[in-house]
Amino acid sequence: MRGTVLYGPRDIRSEERPEPKIIQPTDAIISIAATCVCGSDLWPYRGINPFTEPTPMGHEYCGVVEDVGAAVKSIKRGQFVIGSFATSDNTCAVCQHGYQSSCQQREFMNSAQATMLRVPLADGTLVPTPGHPSAGLIPSLLATSDVLGTGWFAADAANVKPGSTVVVVGDGAVGLLGVLSAKHMGAERIIAMSRHEARQKLALEFGATDIVTERGDEGIAHIKELTKGEGADSVLECVGTQESMSQSIQSARPGGFVSCVGVPHGVELNGEQLFYTHVHLHGGPAPVRRYLPMLIDLVLNGEINPGKVFDLTLPLARVAEGYRAMDERRAIKALLVP
Ligand SMILES: [Zn+2]
Ligand SMILES: [Zn+2]
Repeated sequence: MRGTVLYGPRDIRSEERPEPKIIQPTDAIISIAATCVCGSDLWPYRGINPFTEPTPMGHEYCGVVEDVGAAVKSIKRGQFVIGSFATSDNTCAVCQHGYQSSCQQREFMNSAQATMLRVPLADGTLVPTPGHPSAGLIPSLLATSDVLGTGWFAADAANVKPGSTVVVVGDGAVGLLGVLSAKHMGAERIIAMSRHEARQKLALEFGATDIVTERGDEGIAHIKELTKGEGADSVLECVGTQESMSQSIQSARPGGFVSCVGVPHGVELNGEQLFYTHVHLHGGPAPVRRYLPMLIDLVLNGEINPGKVFDLTLPLARVAEGYRAMDERRAIKALLVP
């Protein structure tokens, strides 16, 4: 089968790989209908995450179940399924609290930029759709696997409520879908921080009411100006750098909520600053599995169209072009079709 392997900084290859097999009785094997490149894939691609050996890539996926292990009960051959980037049994105490991405049996998925994929803990990880979706719905269903689930968690963890004033820091696919999620949760004002024209346009289409192009102190000053000097009720930090985190904390009103879903790289928190801002901070790898059934329904009912974040579609064999386009910010997110 065809798979994707990162060999070193900016050295990503599509190559022949062994077909996955059932290893544990709780596994399923799926044939991939669509997969994609994640913003978080760019960290190792840029050589920012050190790595020692060639790494199979990809953790966002949907497709058809080809085979299941002997202990799999609810997932059946032939079903169209979507799963999260983190596997979960969906039964342990942590899962019961809704934090499936910290499941006691969690594994982080990789190898999904491929034609076939092994999914551990199939019954807990995968969610089937009723029947097979039409081709037009597949990008939006794929988006629920990570970017939409993560954007939704960003809005939920930042306590977005009807009438809230929301700031979204980061105009990648997750930030843009954080805008969509905040809109769906009834936010009244959604300020998207972006300098990129195509991304500003999509943010406005997803429900942003204001665009702020400044960053750092100027960005914070502009947010304060737009919120009568108060700061926002909810701030979604969707980048993961020191600059974006400190900008997020300072953009919230006293007692406001900041969520962080961008994988932190070199972020250090200032305890004194946190103390005096009265900010609630909540984040982590998004428990996408908690939201999957609801998000799949919203997509199937035509209420949301998160697949719009895919502005580049490539055959899987040309995956390297997808990484390059996202690295150079020529594409928001690249969809890969086996
Ligand atoms: Zn991802
Ligand atoms: Zn669990």
